[in-house]
Amino acid sequence: MIKAFRQFSPNARSKLTHGSKTSILWIVLLQARRFTLGKMAGHDACLAEFSEMVRDIMAKNCANISHVEVPTELLHPTVKRNRGLDTSVESSGRAPTDPGEPEQKKQKGSMEHPYSTELAEFFKGSLRDAGNPKLGAIAIYCGITKEQLLPDFAKQDCRQFLVMGTCMFGKGCKFHHRTANKTQIETIKDKFKRFKTDPLGMKGEKK
Ligand SMILES: [Zn+2]
Repeated sequence: MIKAFRQFSPNARSKLTHGSKTSILWIVLLQARRFTLGKMAGHDACLAEFSEMVRDIMAKNCANISHVEVPTELLHPTVKRNRGLDTSVESSGRAPTDPGEPEQKKQKGSMEHPYSTELAEFFKGSLRDAGNPKLGAIAIYCGITKEQLLPDFAKQDCRQFLVMGTCMFGKGCKFHHRTANKTQIETIKDKFKRFKTDPLGMKGEKK
């Protein structure tokens, strides 16, 4: 039967109606059920509808394939994909990837960008030693303003989150919370060198 279908031109395959395909699968199911019952030999091993169907497929006469016992729900196109009996190459190949793709995309879209672990490591001890100063204060301590810290900084991104990993607005922040890229990490490390090597000096200056 599969071999007979392979003889079909792509055009002929595309012309197979939902009704014929459903009927074919239904008949295959009936035949499989019969085999399951152990009726595999003898002149009545194959159901009349099965033999007839195979003959029709080989004769490329699929429009005639129908079976009065096919449940009406199955003939409705919306139930088509839920049958799980379709043995045709097209649907078995597509089924596992199709539903997965949009889900993955959704997950990526809603996923929060994490704070750079490298920056977290860089600030960890120094922030505590300096008494948790604000970003602007650290910048000034290092001889710059926080605006001067990242020259290639995008306006729509949240500077506070990118550099410090914390933002008082959290998810409600109107700016994008992005992870610092390599260049930004290097720039921050370089410009905040004084803060890193002498965080206590910052505390001293304050007092
Ligand atoms: Zn923010």
